[in-house]
Amino acid sequence: MHDVLIVGAGPAGSMAALRLARLGFSVALLEKDTFPRIKTCGDLVTLEGLGLLEDAGLGEWLETCRRVDGLRFSSPDGQVLDIAVCDSASEARNRILPREYLDAQLAQAAMRAGAGLFEGCRVQEVQMGDDAVRLTTSRGEFTGRMLLLADGSHAPITRKLGLLREAPDLMAARQYLHCPGVDPLGPLEFHFQREILPGYTWLFPQGEYGFNLGCGTYTARVNRKELDLAAVLEAFKRHDPILAGRLAGAEAIGPIRAHPLRTHVGGTRSHAFRIMVLGDAAGLVSPFTGEGITSGMISGALAVRFASDAFASGDFSAAALAPYTQALKQRFAGDHNAAYVLRSTLRDPRLLDHFFRVMAADADLARTFALAYLDEVSPQLLLHPRNLVKLLQKR
Ligand SMILES: Cc1cc2nc3c(=O)[nH]c(=O)nc-3n(C[C@H](O)[C@H](O)[C@H](O)COP(=O)(O)OP(=O)(O)OC[C@H]3O[C@@H](n4cnc5c(N)ncnc54)[C@H](O)[C@@H]3O)c2cc1C
Repeated sequence: MHDVLIVGAGPAGSMAALRLARLGFSVALLEKDTFPRIKTCGDLVTLEGLGLLEDAGLGEWLETCRRVDGLRFSSPDGQVLDIAVCDSASEARNRILPREYLDAQLAQAAMRAGAGLFEGCRVQEVQMGDDAVRLTTSRGEFTGRMLLLADGSHAPITRKLGLLREAPDLMAARQYLHCPGVDPLGPLEFHFQREILPGYTWLFPQGEYGFNLGCGTYTARVNRKELDLAAVLEAFKRHDPILAGRLAGAEAIGPIRAHPLRTHVGGTRSHAFRIMVLGDAAGLVSPFTGEGITSGMISGALAVRFASDAFASGDFSAAALAPYTQALKQRFAGDHNAAYVLRSTLRDPRLLDHFFRVMAADADLARTFALAYLDEVSPQLLLHPRNLVKLLQKR
């Protein structure tokens, strides 16, 4: 019998496992894959997430991964904005952390802290008893007093328990590339191509790890076959004028992979008797940027707080765990709501072209826009009347 069973060793599950183990709880972290495993991602980790990883003891490894000091954006009509996000390269903060290594590092850190890590362990069935939770897995049975579900955006176990209310709203795809002749430490690039709005195509140079090229948009557009994300990436590599042939000699390191994202905090019931839902399964990906590593880890840390309270009081009821859902809403709902407004506004290419013209003449506004993409300022700031007046001025 464990105190806590955790399904999924992505950033959310591993962060929760690590912090619970540090507090002395017995934890089983159950992961269907075996590390190092491939995870479809853009690999950008924002400042707050880096702080959590440092606290997890990964500081030394973080130092080996590239820092981000500038962003490049392009508009549907081809305007390019280069924006420095810090005054010197040594102050650069956000980092590119390839998920194959990040997730393995974090799961190992959880194990070092005392959590039991069970790889190749697919959770298949859940039985909720009055006193315990029993899981049937490909590696046998596990019982625990609490269950944390960090099973990602496919969320098979969260779904099985009837906690999912909605389907994922975004879909994104990425491919790793070798790009001879392209600066591996260049700026992170975000290209708002007309056909993919309100999403974007990214090109993230990853230092020694090559390049991460990807794009994302509404799942509904992909499902309606309006848009083929792989075709968008292939066409971008070959023809995009913004790239001006920079990817002509690119060699693929592996296939294009796509994965859904959930951005609606209320789209999952994130607590129930003895249960909390974390990360992507709880709809914590930013609707504005598609980033969810940091929010997943934050939810892991929050869940630990409420799990500790439940063990202290001996009350594992849904009512006792409801403050976890309130804490998620308090932390994320304001930013997500602002992001939905921005996302639907940025769907219009003419408006986006106009915003770029305004930002080209207003360095402060451009920097705010860039920092919102790094999650260093809230997207709510872009909707502040001061900025709205600027964005809507005639150019
Ligand atoms: C193309 C793309 C690009 C992205 N780019 C970025 C980015 O640059 N920065 C950013 O912050 N976010 C990005 N994201 C989002 C980010 O990948 C997720 O938000 C993040 O992985 C969420 O972490 P998680 O721990 O909730 O879920 P996951 O990382 O998905 O982990 C869930 C884990 O659960 C395991 N699992 C599932 N079912 C079972 C089961 N039945 N039994 C046992 N284990 C199970 C899975 O194998 C997996 O390891 C991107 C997403 C996509 C699709």
